[in-house]
Amino acid sequence: MFDDLLEANRRYRSEFHDPGVEGRAAKGLAVLTCIDSRIDPLAMLGLKAGDAKIIRNAGARVTDDALRSLILASNLLGVTRVCVVQHTDCAVIGTTDEEIRARIRVIRGVDAEGWEFLATTDQRNTLRHDIDRIESCQLLPPNLQVGGFVFDVHTGQLVPGAS
Ligand SMILES: [Zn+2]
Repeated sequence: MFDDLLEANRRYRSEFHDPGVEGRAAKGLAVLTCIDSRIDPLAMLGLKAGDAKIIRNAGARVTDDALRSLILASNLLGVTRVCVVQHTDCAVIGTTDEEIRARIRVIRGVDAEGWEFLATTDQRNTLRHDIDRIESCQLLPPNLQVGGFVFDVHTGQLVPGAS
């Protein structure tokens, strides 16, 4: 099932050169973005491997686990600024958790009651709320710079949405 990936890795490995960089983020940047397969976080921001910490989850939401990564990244791994990048046409934007649970029930016949999918019908306010959550986290450095953006998956444009 994974043969194609292992074959691709053999080619990758044959041309791989250890860049000799540290595990710290060279550009002092962390990017929290969605799992959407149309988003290429490094290319989108003109970055390369070694430049930034990339944190992804469905909807680019500031969850406890996203904060856990940001706390480690900012206190121990050189991160001084954070971009939260939500996007257009996101599967958890413009819907509700109840609708998602209902869809899973129909597709799979299983009950997703109790699962939170963090869906929202108000992207701008959600992004603002998530930025606030980062800015109010006591374990993050007080001078951490935080910006919120929405990436347009059809044009490639990054639009400031909250900062
Ligand atoms: Zn998404």
